[in-house]
Amino acid sequence: MNSLDFEPIGYITSCYKEKFGIPRQPGLVPSAKAQLTLIDAFDHESVRALEGFSHLWLQFIFHQTQSHGWKSLVRPPRLGGNKKIGVFASRSTFRPNPIGLSVVKLDDIEIHKSSVTLHLLGCDLLNKTPILDIKPYLPYVDAITDAEGGYAQQKPEVLMEVDFTEQATFQSKEASLRLGEDIPTLIKEILALDPKPSYQNNTEILDRIYRMKLYDFDLSWQYCENNKIRVLAINLT
Ligand code: SAM
Repeated sequence: MNSLDFEPIGYITSCYKEKFGIPRQPGLVPSAKAQLTLIDAFDHESVRALEGFSHLWLQFIFHQTQSHGWKSLVRPPRLGGNKKIGVFASRSTFRPNPIGLSVVKLDDIEIHKSSVTLHLLGCDLLNKTPILDIKPYLPYVDAITDAEGGYAQQKPEVLMEVDFTEQATFQSKEASLRLGEDIPTLIKEILALDPKPSYQNNTEILDRIYRMKLYDFDLSWQYCENNKIRVLAINLT
């Protein structure tokens, strides 16, 4: 097979500093912010007229998993992690060519001297993700309202009710002040989707403490009875 060489056009700065906990598709955590900074070869002319679009398609490299290879059958979390389907019927990160595709909201375009930064909302992208291309989302062609969604016809339900310990409430307010973001809302949107692996059952999760890295802090939580999550702490890393 011929190989093709592509260079990233830019890199993502995201609130998600590790893979665990990132939503499984874009738009599910609307308050998650990210910035796409274009490399020097692209100045303001390369984004002229982009401000008229509310949403963008991003093509990117699954850079953190690209060395892990791929298999022709995968177990998507939407099927509980125990049923196999073909890699091309999935949005798995482990693909023959490790290319991802996400539709994201364009919040703002910042042009400073010759540097271009796109401010984005609702990304499902890890920090430092290399971006291959940007295309405007065209509702008249891209929004197919009667399309069949196979085993993922519906948006995943919000599964979990999220509350905070007294300590976590205090720490989340401090983090909001420090970062200038609504951290409690961000945490609730992420945890409501239930980030734990779908094969873990209810009895084995109750005693465990789960952690993920967001911005500059470690978030920890525990599962409680009746689909509840309790946020335990938000500690600076
Ligand atoms: N929307 C994209 C698509 O359909 O191609 C990505 C879907 S993929 C299932 C989403 C997951 O990719 C996230 O939950 C996160 O764990 C993982 N991910 C995001 N950015 C990544 C990166 N740069 N390298 C490896 N994995 C990444």
